[in-house]
Amino acid sequence: MNPVVCAATVDIFLSGISSGEDMLVICNVTAVTMDDRRRIIGDAGIAIDGQKIAAVDSAENIRKRYPDADLLDGAGMIAIPGLIDTHAHADQSLLRGLGDNMHWMPFLDDVVEPYLAKRDPADGVLANALSIMEMIHSGTTCFVSPNVDPRDDYASLTNVIGDLGIRAVLGRFTMPDAGPDSEGVARDTVAAAASVMHRWHATQQGLVSMWFGLMVPRRPGDTDHPAFYRAVANEAREMGVGIVYHFCSEIEDSTYIEDTYGVRPAEWSRDNHALGPNVLLINGCWVTPLEIQILAESGTHLAHSPVANMKMATGILPVPDVLAAGVNVSLGTDGALNNNSYDMFGEMKAACLLQNATKRSASALTAQTALEMATIRGARSIGREDELGSIAVGKLADIVLVDMRRPGTYPVHDVVSNLVFATSGSNVHTVFVAGKKILEAGRILGMNETEVLDKAAESALRTRRMLGLSKPGAGPGH
Ligand SMILES: [Zn+2]
Repeated sequence: MNPVVCAATVDIFLSGISSGEDMLVICNVTAVTMDDRRRIIGDAGIAIDGQKIAAVDSAENIRKRYPDADLLDGAGMIAIPGLIDTHAHADQSLLRGLGDNMHWMPFLDDVVEPYLAKRDPADGVLANALSIMEMIHSGTTCFVSPNVDPRDDYASLTNVIGDLGIRAVLGRFTMPDAGPDSEGVARDTVAAAASVMHRWHATQQGLVSMWFGLMVPRRPGDTDHPAFYRAVANEAREMGVGIVYHFCSEIEDSTYIEDTYGVRPAEWSRDNHALGPNVLLINGCWVTPLEIQILAESGTHLAHSPVANMKMATGILPVPDVLAAGVNVSLGTDGALNNNSYDMFGEMKAACLLQNATKRSASALTAQTALEMATIRGARSIGREDELGSIAVGKLADIVLVDMRRPGTYPVHDVVSNLVFATSGSNVHTVFVAGKKILEAGRILGMNETEVLDKAAESALRTRRMLGLSKPGAGPGH
């Protein structure tokens, strides 16, 4: 969809909420709304009443409408919806730089699995804190962490999420227990996972959502319990939560499914009740046209991670083809191990470059589509399009102010082009989540960032020793 650039006074969407003491007005800002009409409003005003957006209009009209509201001058800023990272292993930041130049199997076997098996749960929480700080600094207001380890300290983890004020979808890693594929084993396994999910779902003022982080077979030795997948689907439906898992990522795991089950991965997922509107698949680099059709028909969503896919030579999701078939595709960074960043601005740019290069077309994936994938399509991927993903009346006020008055982002002929092709996370100035300011002038509020960085440096040496890795390029104090 092409953006509609509006004269500021043309469209007035007022909710009827009168001004009050809690009202905040962001004025003199350029609003890239990503609303149904993709309006871009110059010299806009955005009224925030508590947690929600009350009005979006010209700054002049908004100031008249809410004369007693607190004012935030957004001159020189672009207001965008908070970015939604739908594939972010938030517990991997302490490993940044330790997974380079690796194929996925040694990557999992030599780095990820030993780390998860040996790490102190406190380091898992610290890693999340560091990742979330990076996300907030770069305009991400919501993330999906797909494989949250069952051994993690969920109380401390959710406290960090609440203290920092970001939204998180935690996919609690769930795999079949050892033993026969029986209804009993499936019931017990899923009940154990569900009890943890019930405990933490919708905590921290609703910032935390708990999903199933499903384990599906990818290689020889992986378990395979049809009764378990059926039980997960039923429980997810009952709880009203989603399911997230890595899918058809590598050529090896797609051929493994074909060789073992005689079907393609999407057929296997369909046959095992693991597709649908509440399911978010990660990667899908090797999907065939038949599988794209299956995903479209089932309403399943895909999270695309172009930087990690390129870095690890995973494969290339044909995004324009998948979108054209009607599959919703969102964006994700993957994480510090294989990106090595949580900056969604870099992800948007990479998404365009990858498709343009492989399709040999300079318009294969436009900046507008990339921005949609990072915002409104991200909200759709997590089933919250009615609440998140655009700056529109009635939605939660997850809003990012991007400072364009920098040499690298001036002039602004085309605001969406600048956002996708010229901006980086370092341009992010202010971040709101549910109307609460969590980043101001590039500083996270209510958090001693230096302390977290110092602890991360302390953990770095410990982590390398634990994994038996040396890193001659380590920085001072590491
Ligand atoms: Zn992943």
